[in-house]
Amino acid sequence: MKKVLNIAIDGPAGAGKSTIARLLAQKLGILYLDTGAMYRAIGLKALRTGTDMRSETDMGRLLGQTSLDIRFADGCQQVLLDGEDVSQAIRTPDVSRAASDVSALPVVRLRLVALQRRIAAEQDLVLDGRDIGTYVLPQARYKFFLTADVHERARRRLLDLRARGDRDTTLEQVLEDVIYRDRQDSERKMAPLRQADDAILLDSTGQSIEETIESVLAIIGQGQHE
Ligand code: C5P
Repeated sequence: MKKVLNIAIDGPAGAGKSTIARLLAQKLGILYLDTGAMYRAIGLKALRTGTDMRSETDMGRLLGQTSLDIRFADGCQQVLLDGEDVSQAIRTPDVSRAASDVSALPVVRLRLVALQRRIAAEQDLVLDGRDIGTYVLPQARYKFFLTADVHERARRRLLDLRARGDRDTTLEQVLEDVIYRDRQDSERKMAPLRQADDAILLDSTGQSIEETIESVLAIIGQGQHE
């Protein structure tokens, strides 16, 4: 089997994982796989169909009627839900929460983890998520756990939403959402949000994106952690 380079970046909501993962992938000339987008797509479908997001049976039935594909166009990930490109539609606060709700169910995780492992076996990737280093790819060559102060994470998330044209969501709502998801993601039974024992902890509080990416590149460049 071809040996692939997988770099895992896990951490709580708003820690800057996706920005760092995207830039890192660009610098290394490899693809970036945003695994949260998959949970978001399933959360979106549950919202649209009014499916009970706490029911393993109902969600299992929904998954049986759902096709989910990831496509890369010019290096950018697109998420196809039943053939529809939902890459933008999944970026709302409602969908964030729905993603966290459905991601607690083993039936959802097993399906999405299988897809993630399949994609990761085929190519070099930077992946971001919650359980990449602990569960999806425990053998990943490099593992990072990126975190930051919860207030700073909420502020960053709000800036993201504003950049996407959301003028309504308030800082308080984002903070509440981040706290809700951190807690639910950390407390779920299957593959909870947790730093892998062999992951490198990076705290980006007060750091610029450039500073964080420099730390990551320094570690990868030195071949530390092999
Ligand atoms: O990273 P993002 O905020 O897009 O993730 C949305 C939600 O998907 C998270 O709050 C988490 O519940 C779930 N998720 C997960 N495992 C992953 C990636 C995301 O459970 N690997």
